[in-house]
This record gives sequence, structure tokens and C-alpha cells, in this order.
Amino acid sequence: MVAIACWASAAWQADDTRLRDRFYSDMDHPLSADPPASGAEAEEQSLRSNTAGPVITFSPARQTVPLVFASPHSGRAYPADFVAAARLDPLTLRRSEDGFVDELFAAAPHFGAPLIAATFPRAYCDPNREPWELDPAMFEEPLPVWVNTKSPRVGAGLGTIARIVSSGETIYRKKLRFAEAERRVRQFWEPYHDQLSRLVENTKMEFGACLLIDCHSMPCSGYPKTSSTRSLAEFVLGDVHGTTCCGYATDFVERALAGMGYVVRRNDPYAGGYVTRHYGRPREGLHALQIEIARSLYMDEARIERSPDFAALHHDVTRLIASLARAAAALIGGRIPNRS
Ligand SMILES: [Zn+2]
Repeated sequence: MVAIACWASAAWQADDTRLRDRFYSDMDHPLSADPPASGAEAEEQSLRSNTAGPVITFSPARQTVPLVFASPHSGRAYPADFVAAARLDPLTLRRSEDGFVDELFAAAPHFGAPLIAATFPRAYCDPNREPWELDPAMFEEPLPVWVNTKSPRVGAGLGTIARIVSSGETIYRKKLRFAEAERRVRQFWEPYHDQLSRLVENTKMEFGACLLIDCHSMPCSGYPKTSSTRSLAEFVLGDVHGTTCCGYATDFVERALAGMGYVVRRNDPYAGGYVTRHYGRPREGLHALQIEIARSLYMDEARIERSPDFAALHHDVTRLIASLARAAAALIGGRIPNRS
């Protein structure tokens, strides 16, 4: 039996600005100096948080570094109407999750950087897509002309509203109304990006630059398969071939991970998704780097459970965050403001 969290999405309306602002302030959780939550404790914390809205921000008591961490695909609060409309069992639906990635990066606030995480699942609405990448075959009526129906992601079944889960099975029993896609974009995609934009802009304003680390994990089937690949990648860094992040930062992360013994590749097979491309504008001091972690390092992919190796990887990711926190300002040309 797989536990699956459901919550009432009607409790929150994206178009009510005052409610949204209150929601955001409710979701800003200054963290104590206690060690990051992990395992059952983090799960409980996460499920509690899920009752409040589509995005959660773990904020440091004071942001001290020009870093923002984001986990767009680790959400596991499945709306009841979505589960009812799906032809797949809960465990199969969960195959699209970047399982527990928010927990792997949970230490970020303890090193002075905010961490944002979607609470809604990627199979429901994908914040790492343009807002309107939709497959016309999934909908009862013709889509508006301004919808992007031709992207390769739509062609692969993985648009903003996905047709399939990551393992390839079709999600829905029947076609959707366009109004349903519109509702999900307005109530889930937009709040996620409202909050992420706000964090990035505030960081840029405070430090003169910002390095956004977009955090993901990759299934076994996503590994590079080129004949020249002797060993499977354990981390894939995506900076859209050097265009979204200054090379110093990408080099630094690559060296840090390789120094811990991991096999690291760049931009192959994941060069960076919408978030990396949209937020990464190095000439404006905005840098975005996507990190993909092999799920086999820390979880049982079939059962969607943390493996015994989870703690070791969590420790190494925390070391990476600590190193980045020390170096980020120098790497991207940011300043550390004087504070009394
Ligand atoms: Zn992902």
C-alpha cells in the first residue's frame, strides 16, 4: 500500500493577491540551528506543509549568500481529483517525482540560502516547462492559438500538463477540459514562479548577483548511453552548454563532486530545462545551474523509498552546499553586504 497525500486545492485561490501574500508569509519558515530534518521527520514536516499551498520556502533566519536552491519536481501532495482521473495506481503516478530531492538539499537554509520546493507533483503540473506547453490530443476542445503545442517536450508527452509519467504510461482515462489546464497553471505553476522570481530578484538586489541551483534527480533510464560512456553518470550538471551560468561556478561544482568521488558529466543528457534557461542570464548577474542526481545513489526507484545510502548522499550534498556557500560570491562576482 502506497501512502499518497491528498489535499483540497480549493482552499487557495491564485487570483486573490491578499490571500496569496498571506500564504507566502505563512510559508516562509525561518529555520533554527537544529540539523536539517530527514527521513520520517522531514516527511511529516512536508505533509504538514502540504496542507497550506502549492509551494514552500525554507528561509534562513538571514540570507547571507547569493544562492537560491529550488526543487520543482519533488512534490508529493496529490490532489484527490487528479488521482481519481488517473488510470494509473499511485505508485506508478509517483514515478515522475524527483523523489526526496527537497530533503537532500534541506541544509541550504542552514548555510544562509533559501530553498523553495513545489508541493504539487510534477505529473500534475510541471514548473520546469513554459506555462503553456500543451498537447492538443489531451483536450476535449481546440486549444487557443497562443498555446505552444509543438515543443519537443509536448511531443514526448511531457508538457506542462504531462500526458505520461516518466516510465511512459498514459496518465488519464479521458480527455481534459482546457479550463482544467488553465486552472493548474494559474494555481500551481504561477505561484511557484512568482515565489522563485521573488527570491532570485531579492538576492540579486541584495548581493548584486544570484546563483540559482535547480535541483533534480534522474532515473536509471535517463543515464547517458553513448558508446563512449564507460561509466554511468552519477551527477549531470546542466548550464545549457555554458550559456546560463558562469564557467567558474559550473567548474567549482564539478570539481567539488568529483573530489567526493562521483562521476560527473556536463549537459549530457540533461542540458537544463525551462527554469535554467529562463532564469540564467549571466550578463545580468543571474546564473542558473541544473543539478541532476542519479536516483540509484539514494533511493529504491521501484518502491519510491529512501535507500540505506540516502544518509551518505545527504551528507555529501550538504558538503557541496557548504562549499558553495563559502565560494558563491567570489564565483559569480557578487558582494557580501556590510551589516551591523
Ligand atoms: Zn526533475
